[in-house]
Amino acid sequence: MATLTLDNVKKSFGKTDVIHGVSIDVTEGEFIVIVGPSGCGKSTLLRMVAGLETVSSGEVRIDGRVVNTLEPMDRDIAMVFQNYALYPHMSVFDNMAYGLKIAKVPKAEIADRVAVAAKLLQLEPYLGRKPKELSGGQRQRVAMGRAIVRKPAVFLFDEPLSNLDAKLRVQMRLEIKALQRELGVTSLYVTHDQVEAMTLADRMIVMNGGVADQIGAPLEVYANPQTAFVAGFIGSPP
Ligand code: ADP
Ligand code: MG
Repeated sequence: MATLTLDNVKKSFGKTDVIHGVSIDVTEGEFIVIVGPSGCGKSTLLRMVAGLETVSSGEVRIDGRVVNTLEPMDRDIAMVFQNYALYPHMSVFDNMAYGLKIAKVPKAEIADRVAVAAKLLQLEPYLGRKPKELSGGQRQRVAMGRAIVRKPAVFLFDEPLSNLDAKLRVQMRLEIKALQRELGVTSLYVTHDQVEAMTLADRMIVMNGGVADQIGAPLEVYANPQTAFVAGFIGSPP
């Protein structure tokens, strides 16, 4: 577990400012949900934390250590995307094991870690299958398993459930909540689904045009919106 700090983080693409200076202290084991309309910069913010996008100014710190210039592999972070990006030719086991093999984790330990994650995610019966032989929810669980086996200090999720149908989304939301209780990993979770945010968040961030308009516990944000934008966004139907 780790703390994650964003200190006045900004991002420009060419002359276009996309993130205008976002600051947040994520405490150990805290689950932060970022909500906001399409194009407000949620993915860009996550990608900077992951090291998939450079930071224009400001600092990203994990456990107090500045990671701005570290490669993604060296950041002790795992990211789950909405398009799960599984390897189609590999079994579920190999998909989950792949990153560990690259990191030269010993075979026996890989087997142990995959077994633990598969149990947690109810994937034990499917370890020999290929992704195309799985349901959408099962594929998303494999993507999560692949993140869990790496035992990262920080989890990043970018709309992980948005490709699933409504019923499955509710189920997976509950599963993520259970995982969160079990693992307690420091997490940043992006969604445009307010119910997801309300259910999962210890604190939520409402983003608006590259700015964090409000940061607070879900009920506090809901009951006491600090800007007209937040009031409109949280108050509107999903
Ligand atoms: P969100 O995830 O909240 O929908 P994004 O972070 O994807 O928003 O995008 C925020 C803004 O940054 C958008 O206006 C988008 O067009 C712009 N943007 C994102 N990535 C790039 C890029 N690689 N080059 C130029 N503009 C980008
Ligand atoms: Mg996005």
